[in-house]
Amino acid sequence: MKYISTRGQAPELTFEEAMLTGLARDGGLYLPAEIPTMSQDEITALAGLPYEEIAFCVMWPYVSGSFAEDEFKAIIARAYEGFGHDARAPLKQLNENHFLLELFHGPTLAFKDFAMQLIGQLFQVALKRRGDRVTIVGATSGDTGSAAIEAFRGLDAVDVFILFPHGRVSEVQRRQMTTPADSNVHALAVDGDFDDCQAAVKDMFNDFDFRDGVKLAGVNSINFARVLAQVVYYFSAAVSLGAPHRNVSFTVPTGNFGDIFAGYIAKRMGLPIDRLVVATNQNDILHRCLSGEGYFKGDTIPSISPSMDIQVSSNFERALYYAYGEDGGAVAQLMDELKNGGFNVSQGAMEALRESFDSGRVSEDETLATIKHTLDHSAELVCPHTAVGIKVAEDHRAADVPMITLATAHPAKFPAAVEKASGMHPPLPSRMSDLYERPERVTRIANDLGAIEDHIKGHIAE
Ligand SMILES: *Cc1c(COP(=O)(O)O)cnc(C)c1O
Repeated sequence: MKYISTRGQAPELTFEEAMLTGLARDGGLYLPAEIPTMSQDEITALAGLPYEEIAFCVMWPYVSGSFAEDEFKAIIARAYEGFGHDARAPLKQLNENHFLLELFHGPTLAFKDFAMQLIGQLFQVALKRRGDRVTIVGATSGDTGSAAIEAFRGLDAVDVFILFPHGRVSEVQRRQMTTPADSNVHALAVDGDFDDCQAAVKDMFNDFDFRDGVKLAGVNSINFARVLAQVVYYFSAAVSLGAPHRNVSFTVPTGNFGDIFAGYIAKRMGLPIDRLVVATNQNDILHRCLSGEGYFKGDTIPSISPSMDIQVSSNFERALYYAYGEDGGAVAQLMDELKNGGFNVSQGAMEALRESFDSGRVSEDETLATIKHTLDHSAELVCPHTAVGIKVAEDHRAADVPMITLATAHPAKFPAAVEKASGMHPPLPSRMSDLYERPERVTRIANDLGAIEDHIKGHIAE
């Protein structure tokens, strides 16, 4: 399988190269040159299999040139062995035809573990084979950083440095980043906000001497390997509700459009998905765009579902690539217009997007009310991101098609909002109930590129 850029000007790469590179040289995002398909019989055969076996069947055509069959099976097994639920991604019923897909049983209690745990193992195997090592640097407002640390801790081909804004992440999020004891994990509390952290990471990638010197690598959500890992649970959920002999729909709490784009790939592979519904909070650029108002940046407003506080959804570029008939030149032009604030989507592309996607927006009050309603009527305590999804799903539910809402984080990760809405304090799962007792290890650092780069150079393994 070859991988091509959404902007049409970068060299074609193998899966392994695209994974280790992340962003294409022309600024675009990598996609498989052709999306493989699965037959009705192949999809039928997935029903009842363990999650790991479904993962192998779905992902194998994408990676087969880069990994051996047994090697890839072992990678999948290691990626999901630390999950706290044998089903990995269990389904729960909310009402007659609305289901919740629980994606928060991984080590950091959010869906990002599904992709990050796999990518950690993929990096380790690929780098060992090359006799190489890399330095992973990322900025986080909370969930991505802890997921990356949990995925790469203890892997000897990788050092991982995560920059987070000092004093501006929740205590659970901070402790998840500062308590792993492995020597290749480095949590940096920057005296600045999340935008400062993100800018520092961007500057490091543009400092080519530094970048080459420490062999910088990125694992943010534009990495195609992360999208691929997320395709799997669309299959596991749909077949357990009767696909391919029955259609299903999904509603996805959305920020960077990575998770829902994985659903679009699943649909293109042959999974009978009726609707893919984008659920946003008050940061609603995607809802406005899908409502026909164009794709124009606004100011980011902090919310109680902070992992969705995003005004430019990087993976939306991939959906635009398909909506514009795989025309890389057209995508490159749109992305140029985005630098100046935004663009209107052509009529043909809007029609293509509407063939698959619907959307809805949820206010802060509606989010709190949905947490309470879901507890009272379905006996489930949900996180604010999941509540955004549930509300939009109820508005889009059709009587004859099961709706599956993705539950993207555990309620204990966002205890303040959950308690405010429901009066209940969400407890941590017992396997991490000692999180508040574990010793923390963190370096407080000035918001200064030179200081951060020096620290990284001084702390990577030789
Ligand atoms: C990252 C995240 C999201 C948004 O996912 P995208 O792939 O960026 O659309 C939603 N909920 C939670 C809890 C997250 O951590």
